[in-house]
Amino acid sequence: MPTFDLVVVGSGGGPSELNISAYLLKARDSCWSDGVVGIEAGSGLGALKQILERKPDLFNEGVGEKQVRSYTAPQIYSNVRAFLVSHAHLDHVMGLILLAGTVGGPRKSIRSTRQVLEDLEESIFRPSRIWPNLASWNKDDADHMYLYDPLDFKPEYTRIHKDISVRMMALNHGSDPTPYQSSAFFIRHDPTEQEFLFFGDVEPDSLAKKPLTIDVWRVAAPKIPHRLNTIFIECSYPSGRSNDCLYGHLTPDHLVQELENLAREIVKAKSRTSSAPSNPSSPARKRQRLKSRSNSTNTDDLKGALKGVRVYVMHFKEDMENAYKEPIHVVITRQVKELVEKKCLGAEILAAEQGAHIVI
Ligand SMILES: [Zn+2]
Ligand SMILES: [Zn+2]
Repeated sequence: MPTFDLVVVGSGGGPSELNISAYLLKARDSCWSDGVVGIEAGSGLGALKQILERKPDLFNEGVGEKQVRSYTAPQIYSNVRAFLVSHAHLDHVMGLILLAGTVGGPRKSIRSTRQVLEDLEESIFRPSRIWPNLASWNKDDADHMYLYDPLDFKPEYTRIHKDISVRMMALNHGSDPTPYQSSAFFIRHDPTEQEFLFFGDVEPDSLAKKPLTIDVWRVAAPKIPHRLNTIFIECSYPSGRSNDCLYGHLTPDHLVQELENLAREIVKAKSRTSSAPSNPSSPARKRQRLKSRSNSTNTDDLKGALKGVRVYVMHFKEDMENAYKEPIHVVITRQVKELVEKKCLGAEILAAEQGAHIVI
């Protein structure tokens, strides 16, 4: 049973300001007017207004016989109760900065690490010179539209809106010049315990000083595919870009390497559960135990390991010079798909396209 509706306001990674990381989420059994969670907020009102000109029915909801409720871009943003932000780079927060002071509705919390919130406060809001100060740490402060509400990297889930909870984990996002962190979110629909996984910008573990993405895969693996079957992850550049010019991002080769890491964790998690019950001394169980102990899973073992998983690729760096004949999200997604098929991993690879309504 699907549990979430997600609308892609922006899925680019810059430099075009018209299409940068921004997603709107609600539980499928609720209405957009019951409250919305923004995941990232690079693009905002302007992008959504343009999308609605092309797709005026995007948020339409049936409200009884033949009656349909529709929403404008400011109405949708006024319903936002929380923005979940992976890191403070402008292509992830620009929309929420510009929105503050324009849209109405209830107070909105910004949920991220304390560091990200302090970066927003110290660089943008408090000096009141780049933007008026419209955010505060005080829960009883209706004068400020935004509430800084920090999240921790901890195993417990934190409720961020009715029926929606989140677990945040740390990611590497390059060194600029000191190591810079981003985050990944496990987003859970509490009544059904169904989840999906959403990545902020991420550096390949193979290039990081201290790999962190593997920890996210280890947490995800035992839930796949029954409790978690959808992953949003970046692939900023097309194939062929050198490792020296990644700036903490993935290419198709690196993304597929990461997906192999996930597949390996799934194989291990399965062999752990299947070797647990009954007859622990049978030869088959012994073989399985040996296999689950070794780190080197044969690539043959990974075949089909990601069956039932949908991977939405996102954060495409715009092709401003028209170097490719097709839109960059089509090019990159096809490159990822071909590599995943070559390795027979079994995952379905899709592009998170601006303006799409994705049912999770
Ligand atoms: Zn970014
Ligand atoms: Zn970034």
